[in-house]
Parts: sequence; C-alpha cells; structure tokens
Amino acid sequence: MATKAEFIWMDGEMLAWADARLHVTSEAVLRGGSVFEGLRGYPDASGRLNLFRVPEHLLRLRQSARFMRLPIAWSDDQLTRAMCDLVRANGFDQTIHLRATAYFGEGLGYGWRPEDIASGLFVFALPNPRRAGAATGIRSGISSWRRSPDNAAPSRIKASANYHNSRLAQVEAQLRGHDVPIMLNQQGNVAESPSSCVFMVREGVLITPPVTEDILESITRDTVMRLARDRLGVRVQERPVGRSEVYICDELFLCGTGHEILPVAEIDGYAVGDGIPGPLTRRLQALYDDCVSGRLPDYVHWLTPVAG
Ligand code: PMP
Repeated sequence: MATKAEFIWMDGEMLAWADARLHVTSEAVLRGGSVFEGLRGYPDASGRLNLFRVPEHLLRLRQSARFMRLPIAWSDDQLTRAMCDLVRANGFDQTIHLRATAYFGEGLGYGWRPEDIASGLFVFALPNPRRAGAATGIRSGISSWRRSPDNAAPSRIKASANYHNSRLAQVEAQLRGHDVPIMLNQQGNVAESPSSCVFMVREGVLITPPVTEDILESITRDTVMRLARDRLGVRVQERPVGRSEVYICDELFLCGTGHEILPVAEIDGYAVGDGIPGPLTRRLQALYDDCVSGRLPDYVHWLTPVAG
C-alpha cells in the first residue's frame, strides 16, 4: 500500500510530485485565482477503490470555474480518466482524498481579464484516514467570524480564496480549544463550518440550513438528505437555523467529503443531547459508510471504479 503520493496530474501530464509547479507571478498565487473540488475514494468489499460522486463534483467544479470566467480545457471524461490514472499511478488502494484545482496562471502584466491570463488544471491525491472524533463526537463553538455573503465572496462557489474566511474561523476555534467551529452568516443564522455543512435533529426531524444561507452546495449534504429520506423515512427540513437552536437540539453533526459525518458532542460548553453521538447520527454514519463502500445496490451508480 503506497503511503505517499509520487505523481500529480497537471495539464495533461503525469508529473513527479516535485515537478508540479506554478510560477510565483501566477494569478492563483497572487490573488487566489483558482477553484477546486475535494473528492474521496473508498475501497469496496473486494478491496477495489471507487471514487464517490465524480459527476456531481465535476459539475460543481465547472460551475465554480464558470462563475470565475476560468476556462477548463478538459471534458468530464478526460478528467475522470485523469483522476483514475493518477490513483493507479500512485498505487493507492486505501481511502484517499483527491483534489482537483482549476487555476489562473501567469498573465500579461497585472491585468484581471480572463482572456489575458493562462489557465490550467491539476489533480493530486493523498491517503486520507477517517477524522478523529467520528466515533466520540467533536467539540465545537460558534465562530466570531461570519461566513462571506453571497454578494461579496459567494460561499456557493468553491473558490480557493473563500478559504481565507474558513481559515480565520478554523484557527480561532483551535486557539479556543474547539475542533471545528460553526459559522453564522451575516444575518446571524447558522451557515456552515469552514469545510462542512451542518445538520441538527429536533424531535426526530433532520434540519439543515437551505443553500441560500451562504453555504456551499455540498454533495455530502445532498447524500445525507437522500439517505435519511429514502432509506430511513426521516423527515428532512431545509430551513434557516437560529444560533440558539444548536444549543438545545437533540443531535448535531457536520458533513462533508473530508469530515464525512462528524458528530458534535459539545458546542460552546453545552453538551449536545447526552454528549455522545445521537442515534440518528450513528445510523446515518453507518448508512453513509455502506453507501461509499458499495454496500447499497441502489446507490452504486454514485461510484466510479478506479480500475476502469
Ligand atoms: N462547506 C464548505 C465550506 C466546504 O469546504 C465543504 C467541503 N467541500 C463542504 C461544505 C462540504 O461539501 P461536500 O460535501 O461537497 O464536500
């Protein structure tokens, strides 16, 4: 089992890790001019790796790039093949994280016009074990930093520059002794975490802020809502969530490609429920595991085999 990445796919070539470089005057470096996707691959029962919901990630990458007026020269088929080739070249067969980034490169002078700036795309992959806290729940708190509003730096777009806002909140949280913070939007409603979405359970109903509350249109959020409705028959509500609700809810969890389903055990010193992951959270964790590992026949169409 390879534990380190040897290769990076960049602009159509499989490069050695150390050779994948951008010039320091690239727009991606100077002004954070890039958009990206984070995907995961999981082994199935036979030990073969599958990537989870590739078409949905590529669609969101295109939406982010379109918004930035950043051209992508590759088709979905080419990018899917590139990701699978990359995983095979690196010899990974464990759970992995893939990062696909479309970037603006060097430009003509200091102009901003997309047509004056080179663009490209790279993909790298790394082993990615499950986050600490998945079994016991994490400590969270409400960040003093608000999520960027839609009419300034839209959170809907997975622009690398948005992660400046995420970083402020994440670093503050760690200084306060929290694992991951929850961020409010400018209206004071619950938005999301720096890298995942938020769900709470109140009286058996699964509740999450709608996509108009300054959140990323998360693919895991969509997966969780579908599994909860279709497999568990749980009522799901997308509605604004007030700050005080997360202090009194029965269950609270974060979800995202990287965090998967991450229970919150404590928020701002309040125990969530009994201070351990709640029953619906645990059922959703098990179902999500089954889904990404190919154990739910109804959802195997969400898996792209790396073996091709
Ligand atoms: N919100 C933010 C800010 C994120 O960075 C992520 C991770 N991509 C998510 C939510 C979760 O999105 P997804 O489920 O598509 O990974």
